[in-house]
Amino acid sequence: MPQPSKFVGAHVSAAGGVQNAPLNAREIGARAFALFTKNQRRWEAKPLTDEVIEQFKVNCVECGFEPNQILPHDSYLINLGHPDREGLEKSRAAFIDELQRCAQLGLTLLNFHPGSHLSRIDQDACLDRVAESINIALDRVEGVTAVIENTAGQGSNLGHRFEQLARIIDGVEDKSRVGVCLDTCHTFVAGYDLRGMEACRQSFDEFERIVGFEYLRGMHLNDAKVDFATRVDRHHSLGQGYIGWDCFEFIMRDPRFDGIPMVLETIDSSIWADEIRALYQLQYQ
Ligand SMILES: [Zn+2]
Ligand SMILES: [Zn+2]
Repeated sequence: MPQPSKFVGAHVSAAGGVQNAPLNAREIGARAFALFTKNQRRWEAKPLTDEVIEQFKVNCVECGFEPNQILPHDSYLINLGHPDREGLEKSRAAFIDELQRCAQLGLTLLNFHPGSHLSRIDQDACLDRVAESINIALDRVEGVTAVIENTAGQGSNLGHRFEQLARIIDGVEDKSRVGVCLDTCHTFVAGYDLRGMEACRQSFDEFERIVGFEYLRGMHLNDAKVDFATRVDRHHSLGQGYIGWDCFEFIMRDPRFDGIPMVLETIDSSIWADEIRALYQLQYQ
């Protein structure tokens, strides 16, 4: 079998310390992984110790993970487009801390959800605020790329339209350090059809036209537990939801998805190893 050009893995547990994440990823045959570098439901976190940082790096080398195969995810509390000054400042400080943690770990990507207008400011004002937050953060921390995840568009969450991602990117000064992570579940429930090869071709062509694959820095591979264009964020195991296997076959065979971390956030972690194996098999069938 040729050396796979695809880096497929899962969002693994970092319980007991981030140094355990690469070990958990190796355990399931992953060639990529995502992790939280702190508790994702809390604002505060203890700084990473030198020991933990060193052990993380050693484990990554031992398990064969380079920085371009690792996609850390920030806290769910952060809203870089927050309508209020206080909420915005708190989010920006926390985001800078997240970027610094990534830099300390030798990581080069940070995946985050763009932000929510909370029905208090208009969409474009919120998107421009997100871009400004990214500019401030990138000024403070070197070496890490801000990777905007497309969202399901639940409530007032922005980033569900490719045009919204493009507007944020447009407002970022350093284009070399901004990217996009497409979540297949979010893409589908946001209204981009991924059922069947032709639908995938059209939806990803639209992404190419509006955003551009040069910005694609990661993927979240999830099926959807809810139907097309419902704008509800419910992941499912691959092939068991409304999207189906064609989409994942399309991605595994398209070279535009080469060389980036593609991670499962599917609901049954006990079958992640099987899902990863099944994805790699699609590449060669
Ligand atoms: Zn995701
Ligand atoms: Zn989701």
